[in-house]
Amino acid sequence: MTAELRHDWTLPQLRALHDTPLLDLVFRAAGVHRQFHDPREMQVSKLISIKTGACPEDCSYCAQSSRYSTGVGAERLMDQGKVVEIAARAKAAGVSRVCLGAAWRSVKDNDQFDRVLGMVRGVTDMGLEVCCTLGMLTESQAKKLEDAGLYAYNHNVDSSAEFYETIITTRTYADRLDTLANVRKTNVTMCSGGIIGLGETVDDRLKMLQTLSAIRPHPESVPINILSKVEGTPMAANADVPVWDVIRMIATTRLVMPKSDVRLTAGRVTLDESAQAMCFLAGANSIFSSETEFMLTKAVPSPSYDADKVLLDALGMTMRAPFTNHHSTRAAELSGRGAAATDEVEVPFCDRKGAVCAVG
Ligand code: SF4
Repeated sequence: MTAELRHDWTLPQLRALHDTPLLDLVFRAAGVHRQFHDPREMQVSKLISIKTGACPEDCSYCAQSSRYSTGVGAERLMDQGKVVEIAARAKAAGVSRVCLGAAWRSVKDNDQFDRVLGMVRGVTDMGLEVCCTLGMLTESQAKKLEDAGLYAYNHNVDSSAEFYETIITTRTYADRLDTLANVRKTNVTMCSGGIIGLGETVDDRLKMLQTLSAIRPHPESVPINILSKVEGTPMAANADVPVWDVIRMIATTRLVMPKSDVRLTAGRVTLDESAQAMCFLAGANSIFSSETEFMLTKAVPSPSYDADKVLLDALGMTMRAPFTNHHSTRAAELSGRGAAATDEVEVPFCDRKGAVCAVG
């Protein structure tokens, strides 16, 4: 099967794809994955919560919202020195990207944002890709982040537009899309996906993929999170997501956005090694790993660097080096920067030879 980079998926088409018998779906997704990506390679990121807790937003799943008693306290903005220390250990563990997360509704043009820009410069100059997830962003703020060397900006749409307003009331889906549009006005790559297990229907999941795949070009990174149920949030008692739903969602995402990195994100810790391997076969080629065994906060557990090394070794997979995604013009732009700069990008698995893939 030859995959197309389409922006016009209809809901019935997505439903037909998603409802394909599971092993057929995984087989198709694995084939498309191999057309666009090295199946032996995993992109590994490390999350750092640079400003934790006391978020004014009411996202029903989140440990950091000030609306819920989750045991996650408020912390001040982290010092750049501490960020660089954590990033250095991540780099030593083979991580290629550091994601800096702040529990803000939106970025303000103030001293705190200037400090974040310093962190972006500092970690990029270490030869690591930097992603930020800081809330809503204006075009000029996106441009400042681009100038500092930011590789990616994360802003998840979470679910369908209809379902979104039942889980978050303090901002709209349109606000979300506005920030993504501001990121698209720069060369910073876009990371946007969602969460399954919020109580949404299958159609909500597919409408989310429809929204994301309508973006031109597709988001370079699409995280698929499994809800981490946090005590104190309205979603603490939600039903578990069946593993088959996770694999189906990963495979469908891979088929709909073939060139994107599909990231198996929060909740991966709930999957055993075989289930994770099945997700990788179905097209997941990106994960978060952690020295502290949690994601942004202790409320959301993560597999450790050591456990992930054992898993990837067992599967014969390697960790992707920074700035070597051959689909990304941003990787090519930034590859001369920092200590781990890479001269050549080898793409032996791909029929689209060249330092940067020109397709789509
Ligand atoms: S998901 Fe982000 S915006 Fe929503 S409450 Fe949590 S930290 Fe705030």
